[in-house]
Amino acid sequence: AKKDGRNSFSFYDPEMNLRVQETLELETDLRQALDREEFLLHYQPKVDLASGAVIGCEALVRWRHPRRGLVPPNDFIPLAEETGLIVPLGAWVLREACRQARRWKEAELPPVSVAVNLSARQFRQGDLPELVADVLAETGLDPHLLDLELTESMVMDNPVKAGRAMLDLKKLGVSLSLDDFGTGYSSLNYLRRFPVDCLKIDRSFIRDVVDDPSGASVVTSVISIAHNLGMAAVAEGVENEDQLRFLASCGCDTYQGYFFSKPIPAEEFVALLQRETLP
Ligand code: C2E
Ligand code: CA
Ligand code: CA
Ligand code: CA
Repeated sequence: AKKDGRNSFSFYDPEMNLRVQETLELETDLRQALDREEFLLHYQPKVDLASGAVIGCEALVRWRHPRRGLVPPNDFIPLAEETGLIVPLGAWVLREACRQARRWKEAELPPVSVAVNLSARQFRQGDLPELVADVLAETGLDPHLLDLELTESMVMDNPVKAGRAMLDLKKLGVSLSLDDFGTGYSSLNYLRRFPVDCLKIDRSFIRDVVDDPSGASVVTSVISIAHNLGMAAVAEGVENEDQLRFLASCGCDTYQGYFFSKPIPAEEFVALLQRETLP
């Protein structure tokens, strides 16, 4: 590819060349990954702080790549988003998570909700409520056991439109959570009008909660905002007992994190639920 012009130099930067090549390769692989059934979901338990009971889980996608092994979502979700592949992938995640949650209910395990992450592109697509309705009908999952996680930046981009889209989803009976709360900018004025059930406090704030007083006050503030707006407060990334104790002291409702459990395969999550409910 020898040609003159402004873009040609990139061909001669070996590092850049490698990166471009890798991305192209990953994109080709990604296009085939759905057909080849290379995606899988792990589930991270969500725990009720007051009772200690597991009340739900979050579905997190992984890619079992034939050569690279298990690829974490941060390494391919952005590319899937860019290429539009996130739309069929997101639909697969939703269907798989609902199917799984329905199975748990059939197995007479205590009712647990399942949370699914939505991407910006998926949320902007006009037919998302239809997809969710179809998947619920198809799997027979109770809508109130499905929780859809949207990020703050996704909804604050166009809050009026987002608010309407959220209402359409709420009409189906599902819950909505605002993920990574505190990392973007939120207008409290819109927040109070959104039909959101939970605020998920971003992991970055939970991290310094114990030694950093300003981190701690962000967390207590978010918890009171949530409660004042009639929402539940969920903490993510809880890694130790000190963080958990702090969260309990300020009335946080639910938590997730390595301290209780990492995201785990469906079978392990079932085993955990069974253990938890033994008398
Ligand atoms: P997220 O939605 O904020 O998910 C939480 C991430 O934090 C997960 O990373 C989880 O494994 C990790 N985590 C949980 N507890 C702890 C902890 O105690 N300490 C630490 N250090 N990390 C913890 P994961 O699974 O790698 O996912 C990363 C991101 O990828 C997610 O962030 C989400 O934005 C995105 N993602 C994952 N699955 C999907 C999906 O199905 N669709 C879409 N659109 N995005 C997804
Ligand atoms: Ca999430
Ligand atoms: Ca999050
Ligand atoms: Ca996050």
